[in-house]
Amino acid sequence: MRAAGLLVGQTLAAVAAAIADGITTGQLDALAEDFIRSHGGRPSFQEVPGYRHTLCTSVNEEIVHGIPGARVLRDGDLISVDCGAIVSGWHGDAAISAIVGGDAAGRPEDLALSRATEASLWAGIGAMRVGGRLYAVGEAIEASILASGERDGREYGIVEEYVGHAIGQEMHLDPQIPNYGVQGKGPILANGFTGALEPMITLGSPDNRVLDDDWTVVTIDGFRASHWEHTVAIRDGGAWVLTALDGGEAKLTELGIPYAPIR
Ligand code: MG
Ligand code: MG
Repeated sequence: MRAAGLLVGQTLAAVAAAIADGITTGQLDALAEDFIRSHGGRPSFQEVPGYRHTLCTSVNEEIVHGIPGARVLRDGDLISVDCGAIVSGWHGDAAISAIVGGDAAGRPEDLALSRATEASLWAGIGAMRVGGRLYAVGEAIEASILASGERDGREYGIVEEYVGHAIGQEMHLDPQIPNYGVQGKGPILANGFTGALEPMITLGSPDNRVLDDDWTVVTIDGFRASHWEHTVAIRDGGAWVLTALDGGEAKLTELGIPYAPIR
């Protein structure tokens, strides 16, 4: 799974480097497909029934599942890119958010939203430990979003209809991993559990709907959204962020979470 996760991380880095004013989301998708195939992987999203692209590209008020195509990106757009790959039968799944034209081109509230969303993802990762309970992840994500909202003077929305998931030889496995606090504690996390955490956070209400293309999820109020995702393994010794280029070592260390790769 590290091979698949690393390939997803590298693909997202290549896509991030290509995001610029004037490029289309379809061009980003082609770049990602070439990158994955030329490195010995398969784009997993193409194997989801009814979907034929390598990425989901969700721009501005689009939350998740945006379809790559003719849309031209413009400076200041807030885009999330979600990518999945299969290597030797194992899956990786991750998403990033970015401002087209770089942070200097972004609206302050979009930058704050993206940072809050990414921070909440890492808070969720920090709540994953062997012997712990699955729903602690959503509680940590929600607490992080609330704290960021207080700091930023905003009331961020947490999307509830789309959630994280266990992952392995298929992309979407049970159990689901809510990105918010729910009743109960959830299953006990076992040594070797692998999950994809993926908070989707909005600047306004989290209420959403699916466009007529049957895929793209947008906010109803038109406010922008951010989405960050990592595939994470937890082991007796700590965590290993399989889709992070460095395995998560730098960020885990910063957060005081033991970094536990298989070497
Ligand atoms: Mg994903
Ligand atoms: Mg996912």
